[in-house]
Amino acid sequence: MTPASPDCAGFCRDCGREHVLPAGPAEPHARELMAELERCGSIGLGRDGDPRLGLEYLHGPARGQMFGVLACRDRAGREHVLKAFSGQYNGIWLVPGWVPPILDPQEFMRVTGRDEPRIKELTRRIAALPADAPLRRTLLAGRRELSRDLMARIFDLYRLTNFRGLSRSLAEVFPGRMPTGTGECCAPKLLHHAARLGLAPLGLAEFYLGRENKAATRAHGHFYAPCEEKCRPILGFLLCGARELRQSI
Ligand SMILES: [Zn+2]
Ligand SMILES: [Zn+2]
Repeated sequence: MTPASPDCAGFCRDCGREHVLPAGPAEPHARELMAELERCGSIGLGRDGDPRLGLEYLHGPARGQMFGVLACRDRAGREHVLKAFSGQYNGIWLVPGWVPPILDPQEFMRVTGRDEPRIKELTRRIAALPADAPLRRTLLAGRRELSRDLMARIFDLYRLTNFRGLSRSLAEVFPGRMPTGTGECCAPKLLHHAARLGLAPLGLAEFYLGRENKAATRAHGHFYAPCEEKCRPILGFLLCGARELRQSI
């Protein structure tokens, strides 16, 4: 197991400075969660017998996944530990005991259910055409536009809430072009939910479980800072007001 993980941090455009949340206070809870997952063999953690929640999934073709823990305190001074898995687990958005996604899964199904079959159909037609067919280029452009449109509508489903009580869309918070999956990592899920519940964050730790990713940048049981490409650009907004809230309770 790796030693202390790097902190969770991002530049806040409202304050004109970086906000930081340490990993340290969350790490013992993260290690406990890792041990509990290994013991139960499932992210159902003994509460749910759904075979799709088994840890074998993390060692299969889909490869491993990030998990996160947020230690926080409520207004009465009690400690709480929120936990999250990145994106969906084996196609499942909601698992009891874990924070839900930022978007509404039913809205997500409604949006993707309409466009994904059209994109798949275009892919099928493109594959059936010779590489130099003029129609192929038209269909490729059509598919590109449809995918871009779908992604924009998926991003529209996310509204981020921070510790000042401000809510903004991903597009309002993210400077520049958003990568696919922005908003689905553990850190944004955890911070958004803590903010909505009025919990003051004390520490956040993310770790990877399962088969090493294709780029070989993630290994089983190691801690990592929230990712640079999707999370760092929105963490400044999400962490805004956290320190003041922590000091007030
Ligand atoms: Zn991330
Ligand atoms: Zn700020």
